[in-house]
Amino acid sequence: MHAQRRNEYLEVIGIDVWVPRRGVAPAAEGAPDGIEEPAPSAGAAPAALPADVAAEWERLRSEVATCTRCALHSSRTQGVFGVGNPQADWLVIGEAPGAEEDRRGEPFVGRAGHLLDAMLRAIGLDRGTSVYIANVLKSRPPNNRDPKPEEVAACLPYLMRQIALLQPRLMLAVGRIAAQNLLSTDLSLSRLRGKVHYFGELNTPLIVTYHPAYLLRTPADKRKAWEDLKFARGVFRQLTDRVGIDGNLS
Ligand code: URA
Repeated sequence: MHAQRRNEYLEVIGIDVWVPRRGVAPAAEGAPDGIEEPAPSAGAAPAALPADVAAEWERLRSEVATCTRCALHSSRTQGVFGVGNPQADWLVIGEAPGAEEDRRGEPFVGRAGHLLDAMLRAIGLDRGTSVYIANVLKSRPPNNRDPKPEEVAACLPYLMRQIALLQPRLMLAVGRIAAQNLLSTDLSLSRLRGKVHYFGELNTPLIVTYHPAYLLRTPADKRKAWEDLKFARGVFRQLTDRVGIDGNLS
């Protein structure tokens, strides 16, 4: 990625970019060393899905739209299914829709969503093309309270089916609720960050970082989130270096 554009994204995230004085060679603190990211390919059309897979996505989408498995269906405006490229390598998983997501039917479109977009862009990812974004819960809990265990139990199978269809190469859990539910643990977010976890039968690498809503409240932790993103990108690079185009390990 062009250094200037990356610095712009980092500024949006709230990471101070170190500006060299007296013509010292640039070494933007927090920015990846000497790494050139491809520009997000915002206009690139995703390849067509096989018909049976596309049909299964649609079936799942309409099941979520009409779901009454938990009490949240009576207070939500609509189910919030997911957004992005259904063939993306990256799957970003949040907690549950908030007010704006409930109104618009798309995950992460409020203030936290704008920050998430900037975080993704800082590592060369784009919600329209190179990631898929979904939540543990598809319905908004009233007043944005934490999901109840019975709500998670009712809704998680939808996410599992999304994961099975997508088969992402890397999963990024944003926030404690997503991380704990996906990893079936009650460890704190700080204990879960900074390492690669493995999810499900396919042992999909899963990395944990802060929820963007938390980062809006606690900007001092944005730098740690940036470390997480660089870590995730490094893990992804290792994976794609080791795995050939046919998906087999070299
Ligand atoms: N927070 C989440 O976890 N998900 C959303 O979609 C919006 C806010």
